[in-house]
Amino acid sequence: MKANEFTLLAQQLGLTPFGQVFCGEVGRWPITLNNNKLAYIRVFTEQPRSREAMQKISAGLKTWGGRIYSWSGNDLWLSAAKKNRMQGSEAEYVEYCAQILSDAGLLPRDRCPYCRQSGCDALSFAKGGYGAVHYRCLQDAAARERDKADSNLQNGSYLLGVVGAFLGMIVGSIPSFLTIAFMQMEYAVLFALIPLCAYFGYKLFRGKMNKAALVVSILMAILGVFLLYFELIIFSVMHEYGASFSQVMSVMPSLLRDGEVWASILTGALQEFLFMGLGIFFVWRLISSTAAGNADNAAAALQLARPYGQRAQAEAAASRSED
Ligand SMILES: [Zn+2]
Repeated sequence: MKANEFTLLAQQLGLTPFGQVFCGEVGRWPITLNNNKLAYIRVFTEQPRSREAMQKISAGLKTWGGRIYSWSGNDLWLSAAKKNRMQGSEAEYVEYCAQILSDAGLLPRDRCPYCRQSGCDALSFAKGGYGAVHYRCLQDAAARERDKADSNLQNGSYLLGVVGAFLGMIVGSIPSFLTIAFMQMEYAVLFALIPLCAYFGYKLFRGKMNKAALVVSILMAILGVFLLYFELIIFSVMHEYGASFSQVMSVMPSLLRDGEVWASILTGALQEFLFMGLGIFFVWRLISSTAAGNADNAAAALQLARPYGQRAQAEAAASRSED
């Protein structure tokens, strides 16, 4: 589905955006709606998977060309409807899915994903999906993540991070070096490892996990490509002309001063830089799952939370008595 169509659908259903997904209640079901045909709707069921419920749900979804994508334990994913089997609008399909679940005798899970206890009083995004939680547990989780992020910012070190990233970059360029030097094959995709390993090095050496992690990984990856090419030049000169390492090193300074060498590496390594970009993209995704990213997510989940169950009933009763 196009992004704008997906947003429109979520609005029709009264769902709230959370990162890449939309969350909210449809019928009596807290759902997570993903823009993914196969893994389209995620719900947590009170009852674990059962053959009987599966048959009922599958039979119901079939009329729209939908199906159960996966159901392990209490974690149930439903697929989207098929275009040529639609019996109504996209929003009606989502509502229909919620109805099918209830008709199969299922209830939304009332077990907090943090403490595993029942009696949930809030709905929010927790542990991968939208469902019932304790507001208290959500607050605790947000506080824990904030502490972790704070302690990293206080105790992390840029210098150690850069050292770690440099070592990581060296490790990440080994597969490329070996395949090019010994197999005369170049797998551009291996270049994606360079920024990734630089990032893991940065993290392992307790670099401060903020935007610097990404910047250092990018700079190290660029340095890594040049370093790799110079290593390969040294290797091939030694290999083909039988030159000794010290002989090669003696011509290195003039090689390094030669702008044409740099330019030829830059133009020759375009594809490699492209795949490095892929690695950088993964690094960027990883960073959003680090302490600072988790803290932001936890804070966002806390904001998203709305009363549920008995607390929702109590608040509704209170607002009625005010009227
Ligand atoms: Zn709890």
